[in-house]
Amino acid sequence: MTNAFWKHKSLDEMTEAEWESLCDGCALCCMHKVEDEDTGEVFYTNLACRLLDLNTCRCTNYAARVREVTDCIDLTEDKGAAFEWLPLSCAYRRIANGQELLDWHPLVSGDPDSVHKAGISMKGEMLSERDTDEWTVLQKLSEDADR
Ligand code: SF4
Ligand code: SF4
Repeated sequence: MTNAFWKHKSLDEMTEAEWESLCDGCALCCMHKVEDEDTGEVFYTNLACRLLDLNTCRCTNYAARVREVTDCIDLTEDKGAAFEWLPLSCAYRRIANGQELLDWHPLVSGDPDSVHKAGISMKGEMLSERDTDEWTVLQKLSEDADR
């Protein structure tokens, strides 16, 4: 994938391979979220879905994810409404909003680890629900990552 397809294609125009390559692997969308019942604000926690590989930040059963985890978001199906549950830094949300990808995105940097090196991903900061039911609030859903 040598051309910067994301600069001239809409999400609907992308091939499956292009679409999948847009995911930077930050893993933020795989964190459990909590809602403040007084304000309605939604926050990410540091507690990861049981299917997430904490080292790679990737799903261990991507093909069957929606069947395995009923509240997993299938972006290819849900689009629009589902994007509200993604961080502002997410490439899908940025492209849908007409924004550029940021310098740390692997497609821009050419380095699959740049999302981790830039401190955008959850690598090293999360726990798995397989191991614990304790969690802490990380950041507001509507805020950019400040880690
Ligand atoms: S938030 Fe977006 S870029 Fe990050 S892992 Fe989820 S889908 Fe991929
Ligand atoms: S099933 Fe996979 S893609 Fe869905 S939230 Fe869990 S780890 Fe993430």
